[in-house]
This record gives sequence, C-alpha cells and structure tokens, in this order.
Amino acid sequence: MKVLFAVSECVPFIKSGGLADVAGALPKELRKLGTDVRVILPKYGGISAHFKDQMRKVKEFTVAVGWRQQYCGIEEYRENGVTYYFVDNEYYFARDRLYGFVDEGERYAYFTRAVLEAIGELEFYPDVIHCHDWHTAMIPFLLRTEYQDRGGYAFIRTVFTIHNLQFQGIYPFSVMTDLLGIPQRYAHPDYLEFHGCMNFMKGALISADIITTVSPTYKDEILQPYYGERLDGVLKLRERELVGIVNGIDDGEYDPGQGDHPFFSGNLHGKKINKEQLQERLDLEKRDVPVISIISRLTAQKGLDLIRAVLHEMLEEDVQFIVLGSGDWEYEQFFREAAAANPDKVRVQIGFDEALAKQIYRGSDVFLMPSRFEPCGLGQMIAMRYGALPLVRETGGLNDTVHSYDEETGSGNGFSFANFNAHDMLYTYRRAIRLYEQEEVWARIVKNAMETDNSWAQSAFKYNQLYSDLTSRSESHVF
Ligand code: ADP
Repeated sequence: MKVLFAVSECVPFIKSGGLADVAGALPKELRKLGTDVRVILPKYGGISAHFKDQMRKVKEFTVAVGWRQQYCGIEEYRENGVTYYFVDNEYYFARDRLYGFVDEGERYAYFTRAVLEAIGELEFYPDVIHCHDWHTAMIPFLLRTEYQDRGGYAFIRTVFTIHNLQFQGIYPFSVMTDLLGIPQRYAHPDYLEFHGCMNFMKGALISADIITTVSPTYKDEILQPYYGERLDGVLKLRERELVGIVNGIDDGEYDPGQGDHPFFSGNLHGKKINKEQLQERLDLEKRDVPVISIISRLTAQKGLDLIRAVLHEMLEEDVQFIVLGSGDWEYEQFFREAAAANPDKVRVQIGFDEALAKQIYRGSDVFLMPSRFEPCGLGQMIAMRYGALPLVRETGGLNDTVHSYDEETGSGNGFSFANFNAHDMLYTYRRAIRLYEQEEVWARIVKNAMETDNSWAQSAFKYNQLYSDLTSRSESHVF
C-alpha cells in the first residue's frame, strides 16, 4: 500500500497546532504497519537549517498558476522509514511565518497544483492521497476533474481529514478560475460555490472518496447546524462516507519517564519536583496547592469566554494559575490584566514556546480546556500523560478521550461538564479542587489518567483498514 500525505505543516519541521502533530506521528505509525507513506509539504522559511541541510533536490519543474508558470523544486528528506517531499518555491513559502498573508488563496492554489504535478514528475503514483484541512482540499477535486485521464492518476483514491471545519479557505471566484484554472461552471452550489465565493474545504467534501474527522463525537456534531460551520448540509450528503477516528499522541515525544526528574503512574515523587521547578521558574511560591494550567491558542473556540466570566471566583480558591498561549488580542489582554491584578497567583506567558509548554504539562495538576468545540484536541491527552488532570467540556474529541471521575467506581481520568455554561465549569472546577485535597483519591485519578492509552497504534490501524477498503472499491466517488 502506498499513501501520500498532503499537508501544510508537519512535526518536527514546522508547527502551528495539532495538525502538525498528527502529520508527524501518524505516518510513522503507518510505516510500522508496512504501509509506504510519504509526506509532501511546503518548504517554509521557518524550517530549521538542521533539516534544510539534509534535504536533497530530486526534481525541478514548473507549475501553472493561472497563466503563469511558477518554479517548483522537490526536495527529499528521509527519517524513520518515512520519505518527506518539500515543495520549494521561495516566493510563496520563504516567509517569516506560516499563515496570515493576503495571497493565502494563491499560495495554496500553487501548492495544490505542485502536489498533483509532483506525483507524475516523481512517478510515485500512490494508492491513496490523504489530504488534510482546507490547504490541500482542492487536490481531490482537481484529481477527479482534470487528472483522471492521465495514466497512473486514474487509480488514485482520496481520503480527506477535517482537523478543523472552521477554517475553510473561502476566496473570490477569481482564485478558482484564474489561479486554479477551474472552469466557471463549477461556480455553482452543487460544486464549489459557497455564499457567493469559492470554498476550498467544500471541494474536498464533495469530491473525496472518504471524509474523516479526528474524533467520533466531532463527526456527529458537524452534521448539526451549531457545529457545522454552514457546511452541515453538504456533509449530510456524504454522511455514509464520513468516519470519525480519534487522534493519538506520540508517546515517545511526551514521556514523563524522560528528563531530569522522571515520574511514573506508580511513583509520582518526580512530579512533585517538576511542580516545584515550574513554580520556581515562574516565580510562584513553592506551595502544595493545585496548579491549574492552560496551554492553548487564545481564541473563542477554546472556551475562554467561560473563564473570563468566572475567573475571579476561580481565584477565590487557594490555587496557582498558569496560562501559555497566543491569539486574539482580547483574550491576551484579559489574561495579562488578570496576571497584573493577581501577582501572587497568576502567571501569563503570551507566545508559542514548546519547551515551556512541556514544563507546564509536567508540573501542573489540572489542565483546563473548556472548548466551545474541539475536533479532537491534543492538549488534554498530553496533560493526562503527564499526570495533569484535564478539566474539559464534553464536546468533540474531549468527549471521546476524557471520562469524568466517578466516585462510586473509582474510574475516570479527569473532569468534565456538558453545557457551555460558566457556572457548570465552575462547579466542576470546585469539585476537582475538593478532590485534590484528598491525596489518595487524587493519586488514583492521576494514575488512571497516566495509564490511559492515547497512543497512535489503534487509530493508525483504523486508517490502514480504511485505505485497504477504499482501494478494493471498483470505482471512486462520483459527483
Ligand atoms: P489546536 O490544534 O486547535 O490548536 P490541539 O489541542 O489539537 O489544538 O493542539 C495544540 C497543540 O499545540 C498541542 O500540542 C499544544 O501543547 C500546543 N500548543 C498550543 N499553544 C501553545 C503555545 N502557546 N506554546 C506551545 N505549544 C502550544
């Protein structure tokens, strides 16, 4: 089985969020199952020289972006049995950050074409192209409408994974016609039209053979208007080909047994030392009080409005509160002000810092993630692995991975509440704080959390099964 992952970011090369973690971990797991997985992504300016120096140019050609022919170099790098192809075009990708440019539609129109052309240039015709999120969502569409009759392309099947339905790639029709070279007749509600614009994500939703979401609960949720981001109608039409497979985490990457003060589910002494080191680093008093943490993009998706509504009540408890994140100014500012007003309790770091993130996971007791919606979420799984108990809202992947502690049975690996309501969250938070005071009970829940299997093995097996089922189908999806 040959699979090509087309994705806009991938660990360890470049990361802005969970998508990169998935693109980094899943191919390695699939490789273990004997699948020949290769990954293709842009060669961004932010990729470190350590990797760039080891890349080898294997192809050079040009790619049509409307009437222009743009340079495309393919550079290869191998690690752990996985081949990575980097699409090199400095004009589009050698920039100071990943996203947020005015020509975003053009950048990923170019990348779409580059991936499709690279397949022929490299003569690597995969059984399946697995595309991820809007950046690569036009690949299945163009494959079917334009590349179908070109030799080896005819047998390629497509899987499209929705990591976040909120980001869709909505652009004027000129991106479709003038840059992607797609005929005007597809500017129609049955195809790419979306409220007077074109929509990259919709391209995949109508054309991919299989659509997956990164958790089973999110799959059910996005069929409803509340979570459907105005695409629930389109998704309903594909309900039979919609599959939810929960993400895992790379347990080699997130390993409490590593580092200066390792700890294990059976021996938490090291965790205490990690907590003290964290308190010291952030200039918090070294006391045995619950350390509550948030590591997140600071956007409305993450449920920060709930925290904003009741933070003063949360801080009435004897706790320490740590926030690491960046995002919308209003939340950044809210947390900055909270830190200034509560110098003995609250620490806020605005920015993206993977090393500090790990130290916070290792040292904190409760990890707060009350998301409004959450396709899967990795933070709660990483937290569990480090014995920080997740306190989450029961939505999407949070609902599939966190099971609220049950006093009767002693089961559960965290705390959860159902409604998007600040007082429901506050009630659950207070419950967690009271349980923290019962040392034995707390240790039990921490043990449950640390022993929860969130590794990739099971999910990789499911994806592999999906690829096999798909390639045994006699026809690809007709739209
Ligand atoms: P999303 O992809 O929606 O941002 P996820 O929970 O799926 O959320 O993944 C977020 C990932 O990014 C996790 O690995 C988390 O630890 C990491 N992360 C988020 N914010 C920061 C930050 N400010 N610094 C370091 N890592 C962060």
